[in-house]
Amino acid sequence: AERSMMQSEKLSVIGELSAGILHEVRNPLTSIKGFLQLLQNEPVINKEYINIIMGEVEQIERIANELLYFTKPNAERFITQDLLTIAKETLFLFETQAAKKNLKLEIQADGCPHRINGDKTQLKQVFVNLVKNAIEATPENRIVTVVLSTTGQQEQVLIKDTGHGIPKNILGKLGKSFFTTKESGTGLGLMITYTIIRNHNGKIKVDSMENEGTTFTLTFPRAE
Ligand code: ADP
Ligand code: MG
Repeated sequence: AERSMMQSEKLSVIGELSAGILHEVRNPLTSIKGFLQLLQNEPVINKEYINIIMGEVEQIERIANELLYFTKPNAERFITQDLLTIAKETLFLFETQAAKKNLKLEIQADGCPHRINGDKTQLKQVFVNLVKNAIEATPENRIVTVVLSTTGQQEQVLIKDTGHGIPKNILGKLGKSFFTTKESGTGLGLMITYTIIRNHNGKIKVDSMENEGTTFTLTFPRAE
């Protein structure tokens, strides 16, 4: 019980998130419905309305993708997980996206096992969200690195990019109420990431230098 949140606490975190997510999904749905009603009354197909509807559907799709692995935490699924496996599986998912920008995706790890207790789908969601942001922030021909290491009783994961960095004045807003600086962002990725890390008794820290890059540092209690 010590290494995971109480079930009731977890559920309340999910409840808070769900309310916000529902709100974000309802806006594009309302707009889709309105434009479909307009289309119903049009004698010919109106391409402009279709384009608006498509844009809104894509926004819902992005929200759904951010939530892909965010399932209800389940105490029974908290088992020993190997961080190297999760890192490899995550980078594999992004190979095509990285290749389009000629980005190198690299893992640095010593030969030692890096194990923590947790829910694999949720931990993978954390890696996916952070690597996705790293790739999006990094210009062509550069590198995104995942570094695994052990310090004392902690496992540490660095997700390092060589991208545009995060301005100091917005560092404090990360992970809060759908904060995004992207034209078609959801602002959901970090909110979910922070929630999952909390569920795993982990910590997250961000260091960033404008035009040099950003490093997210995660620490989790080591599994025996
Ligand atoms: P989204 O990616 O949909 O914008 P996130 O919650 O994943 O939402 O990220 C919130 C914001 O944090 C981003 O819009 C961006 O401004 C900033 N951010 C997150 N990760 C990075 C990064 N690696 N480099 C630069 N900015 C970042
Ligand atoms: Mg994101």
